[in-house]
Amino acid sequence: MAYKISDDCISCGVCASNCPVSAITEGDGKFVIDADSCIDCGACAENCPVSAPSQE
Ligand code: SF4
Ligand code: SF4
Repeated sequence: MAYKISDDCISCGVCASNCPVSAITEGDGKFVIDADSCIDCGACAENCPVSAPSQE
């Protein structure tokens, strides 16, 4: 199951620069994860200052 970014995201961009498969891009008001590219590594959740990414 791919990770998903909640509305808590403050668009800092840290997760995008740490994603090994570049699955994260800036969206409207928050960053978004491309579920088809995400390999479930968890790096985004570990690096996010507000714990916005999580697995459903
Ligand atoms: Fe990228 Fe890993 Fe987060 Fe998936 S879990 S979006 S692969 S950093
Ligand atoms: Fe949003 Fe967290 Fe990613 Fe920053 S690290 S852009 S707050 S999801």
